[in-house]
Amino acid sequence: MRFAERMGRVAPSAIRDLLRHGADPELISFGGGYPDPALFPAAELNEVYAELLTGNRAALQYCPSNGLAALREHVAKRLAGDGIDCAADDVLIIQGAQQGLDLAGKLMIDPGDTVVTENPTFLGALIAFNPFEPAYAPVRTDSDGMDMADLERVLSETPRARLLYTVPDYQNPTGITLSLDRRRRLIELANSYDLLVVEDTPYRELRFDGAALPSLASLDTEGRVLHLGTFSKILAPGMRLGWAVASTEIVEKLTLLKLAADTQTSTLNMAAAALFLDRFDLDAHIRTARAAYAHKRDVMLAALREHFPDTVSFTVPRGGLFTWLTFPAGFDTAAFMADVALPRARVAYVPGATFFPGAPQHNHARLNFSGLSDDRIVEGITRLSAAL
Ligand code: PMP
Repeated sequence: MRFAERMGRVAPSAIRDLLRHGADPELISFGGGYPDPALFPAAELNEVYAELLTGNRAALQYCPSNGLAALREHVAKRLAGDGIDCAADDVLIIQGAQQGLDLAGKLMIDPGDTVVTENPTFLGALIAFNPFEPAYAPVRTDSDGMDMADLERVLSETPRARLLYTVPDYQNPTGITLSLDRRRRLIELANSYDLLVVEDTPYRELRFDGAALPSLASLDTEGRVLHLGTFSKILAPGMRLGWAVASTEIVEKLTLLKLAADTQTSTLNMAAAALFLDRFDLDAHIRTARAAYAHKRDVMLAALREHFPDTVSFTVPRGGLFTWLTFPAGFDTAAFMADVALPRARVAYVPGATFFPGAPQHNHARLNFSGLSDDRIVEGITRLSAAL
């Protein structure tokens, strides 16, 4: 069969192959990125779903493409509380932030246009953008996020830069947060180079310590930020509920693309989330999740400090689900995992090379701390360090 050209850019990810050992009960995997299912508010969700299904059946009907007004109102209120000037009509409900990446790609990218990203960046964004056949311009990233001098250099050398993709809070894969000065500078540069900024914030509310920094959307002066958020990490990813907030022009265009893609997000799931938010305290639930993940981060970092050699450094994330390890130059984390970590230590992680849109660096690993018990975290880090 002759498939479309774009399929040349659609391939299974290397992570999947490497994590096929998932069935081994002895395996300790730091490779996931799932929230802890013990935190899902299952009883509360059971109550709201049951009520919707015994009620007037509206939750089983179609609804407008931009989403149920009740949920858009809740989202707008939460975002307004976070400094983003928005109303319900500025909110598009999407099937997770991932759909926002696909729609943003459709909106902005012609083949050969350039997407500017952190280096490394979220693999799922590359997977979403690839079918639109972009070039990538990765920007040097340090412990304060994207380096603005390097961003300026990249933009001055890249006439077809259209879209800048960033995860400013507790980034996946590094756990790093973009500093306030750099947030301000990023908006200035987006204005002068006529970019759409896609601000992806799945971990923003999973903050462990420090104050929240203003979102890029709250600093936006020209309607250039498309702000994506999600209920996946604060409620339940299986509901597939996220939001896109942007200028009226952009939200209208995204709504047309959403209609073409899937008509609308599930009415039932949107109604359930809206009723959950009416009736229960999502912020109290988020506080519980924050405390649980902050504790797991502390357990993992303490184990790394105790057992790992000093030649391996790691980030100290102030939120989110991941820490990022840097091994000495020349060390190949993919080869080490295949040859030693999986067969001997029976520990998995995600080798870092997969997160680089340009030339891969081979001496990094992403470790997830949200999905395992304290004992398994310590055991996994101990085994990994023994194998090292
Ligand atoms: N963006 C980032 C940075 C992520 O880590 C994830 C999930 N791992 C997503 C977007 C997509 O999340 P969802 O579609 O479940 O909202």
